[in-house]
Amino acid sequence: MCSGSTRLWHPFANMAEVKDDLFTVDRAEGVWVHDRAGRPYLDATAGLWYCNVGHGRAEIVDAVTAQLRRLDSYPVFNDFTNEPAEQLARRLSELAPMADAKIFLTSGGGDSVDTAAKLARRYWARRGMPGRTHILSRRHSYHGTHGFGTSIAGIDTNREGYGALLAETTRVAHDDADDLRAAIDRLGAENVAAFFCEPVIGAGGVRPPRPGYLEAVAKICAEHEILLVADSVIGGFGRLGGWFGVERWQWEPDMILFAKGVTSGYLPLGGVAVAGRVAEVFWAGRGDRFPHGPTYAGHPTVAAAALANLDLMAQEKLLARADALETPLYQALLRVRDHPAVAEVRGGVGVLAAVELKAEVLAANPDAVPRVHRAARERGVIVRPLGASLAVSPPLTVTPEEIDLIGSALAEALIAVLG
Ligand code: PMP
Repeated sequence: MCSGSTRLWHPFANMAEVKDDLFTVDRAEGVWVHDRAGRPYLDATAGLWYCNVGHGRAEIVDAVTAQLRRLDSYPVFNDFTNEPAEQLARRLSELAPMADAKIFLTSGGGDSVDTAAKLARRYWARRGMPGRTHILSRRHSYHGTHGFGTSIAGIDTNREGYGALLAETTRVAHDDADDLRAAIDRLGAENVAAFFCEPVIGAGGVRPPRPGYLEAVAKICAEHEILLVADSVIGGFGRLGGWFGVERWQWEPDMILFAKGVTSGYLPLGGVAVAGRVAEVFWAGRGDRFPHGPTYAGHPTVAAAALANLDLMAQEKLLARADALETPLYQALLRVRDHPAVAEVRGGVGVLAAVELKAEVLAANPDAVPRVHRAARERGVIVRPLGASLAVSPPLTVTPEEIDLIGSALAEALIAVLG
């Protein structure tokens, strides 16, 4: 623990509450992070859902260091390019479950959301259908904190207090394909550009899809020629099993957003994989410029981190390992299902799960979730407070014994706080 007067404004934090009571993470290795006193904590959240290969991997450090020495940074705007960015795009294009994928690189998930939203609208304008501007998303979904991401957010508290957000955005029920169909009928398909969808809702409380839901919405989008945009910022690179977080549903989206696990968080990287059939409006014939892109798109050092991370994932067969982890992780949390404060345990699809507390428990103890989080941390396990839930999403290198520890620390923390 560390106290003191910070000048760092922490994202999403109530600074009045946390400013004098901070938790400094000093170093990390594997699934363990250490505080300044050297005490280890199991990182059951993989940072912010990103550290899929675990912390402190020398292979990534070495690749980054070598790249920094050779070419620290240079943009890929216009005809400039660099070898790591080219290699990464080729590799991701081959792995993406879409024909002839083109890869637009960004600096994170929110960048990727806004890139895809602008690309969707411009795509329809270039195809002579400028009326197709509406963007649909699901309640409870999280798509980052940029302009479009805030506007299409399914978590209401993330949209309040900013005046008018972007127009022509609509939220539909998160688990009912008929509600998507009804929204399209109401708006007219000829006015809809895209549907943004996290295969498993992450920050909105870890909500796996109902059986059949994702297949049904993909069909509805295809029927109405609405671009299907998978937000796999959390789901990609093993978290939901496949490389791009959609493979288990046989989805072939028009765009896939990625970030986080693509570098396991060692350096900030995001991107959009764009199906060839969408990209060709810009890439074929006389083409069309897409006047968009962040400064650090295609940063060679960041790309080198991603390449080393993908190598590790392949060598260690972490996708198969992820498949083997999802049931034991869910089972580890199910042991608290019968606690009287617990409303629901969600998980079993991918290496992420959550325990939601009952509304009446939260009404009587409004700070129960942060208190349980803290009690688990005092027991050496870091879980994530998320609204009414506590979420876990450990690195894919976690062992069965460590998964057990996550379950027991959470169970003990619940009892310590709520009896
Ligand atoms: N989409 C999803 C599904 C996310 O979970 C996140 C981040 N948690 C984002 C987008 C935004 O990514 P970033 O924080 O890198 O901007």
